[in-house]
Order: sequence, then structure tokens, then C-alpha cells
Amino acid sequence: PLRVEAVVESAMRRLPQQANDMHTQFEVNVAEDTPLIYADKLRMEQVLVNLFTNAVRYNTQHPIIRITAHADEHFVYVDVQDNGIGIAAEHVDKLFDRFYRVDVSSRSQSGGTGLGLAICKGIMDAHGGEVHVISKLGVGSTFTLSIPRFQGEENGHEQEENHGRR
Ligand code: ATP
Ligand code: MG
Repeated sequence: PLRVEAVVESAMRRLPQQANDMHTQFEVNVAEDTPLIYADKLRMEQVLVNLFTNAVRYNTQHPIIRITAHADEHFVYVDVQDNGIGIAAEHVDKLFDRFYRVDVSSRSQSGGTGLGLAICKGIMDAHGGEVHVISKLGVGSTFTLSIPRFQGEENGHEQEENHGRR
């Protein structure tokens, strides 16, 4: 069982240099009483690193990344909202396909192979979760992860510190 905020914080420490160069601003608003998630820490971090990296890379201004969370009986939903270039509706369905990139002409520029979101989807599938996106061209995108809740009795926060690994 993991705390969402702990995973977000570790992911924030693993960002590429470009995130610093662009003075990326994070606004993390995850309530203290957000339920624990049942997830593999490193893999869930990887999902967030991929989303954060995209939020920085597909952005022409100072990136602002807002992270919020809410829950229902079975899932915790983590929203990662950016102020990037956005994604046209026609691309949204293919976004999670491997090697799919929206702007092929930028292929040579800033790295990407088009695997980041396919990997995110694979990891979310493996957890029994999902990843979805809502986007508006020129305004920004919000990726939502649904992550299974930890269903045990454990009263989280102290317990998790005991199991914590760095
Ligand atoms: P990789 O992640 O493998 O380095 P990539 O970033 O190109 O390469 P994905 O992360 O899978 O691949 O993203 C696929 C495409 O979706 C990107 O090339 C980009 O065009 C678009 N995209 C992804 N995230 C965003 C975002 N936050 N804002 C705007 N466009 C995005
Ligand atoms: Mg990517």
C-alpha cells in the first residue's frame, strides 16, 4: 500500500533536466485522507515521470503541472493537468499506441520514440487500472490515472513509513 503523495514526490525528483530548465512549477493538491493505493512503487513512479516529462516537453511556456486526487470505493483517481500545447481530438484515440507521435516533424527534435504513453497504459493495465486523457488544443491536457485502492485494514500512513524504501 502506497500514499499517492509519496509516489508523486518521488516522481518529481526523477525528471529530466529540461523540467528544471523550463522552470516547471508543480501544484500538488492531494488530501491527507486520500486512500492508499495498491501499486508497485517504481512502476507507478514511472507512469508519473512519463506524464510529467510529456507535460514539460509538449509545452511552449513555463510548464505548470497540477496534480489532484479523488477516490471512490474501488479506485483513487489522480489527475495530471498541464498547460501545454494540447492534443487535437483526432489523435486522442491513438495516443496510447506504441510509437504514435502527433507531430512527426518533431521526431528528430526532443527525443521521444512514442513509447511513453504505451508504457503508461501497459503499467496501468497490469495494475487493473486505466489511463485516460481530456485535452484541448492550445489550452492543455489532463491525464487521469485510475489506480486500485488498497482494500486491507491497514491504517496507512505510519505503517507505510515502516515499509518505506528509498
Ligand atoms: P517517449 O515518451 O517515448 O519519449 P513521446 O513523448 O513522443 O516519446 P508518448 O509519451 O507516448 O511519446 O506521447 C505520444 C505523443 O502524444 C507525443 O509525441 C505527443 O505528440 C503527444 N503528447 C503526449 N503527452 C502530451 C501532452 N501532455 N501534451 C501534448 N501532447 C502530448
Ligand atoms: Mg513521452
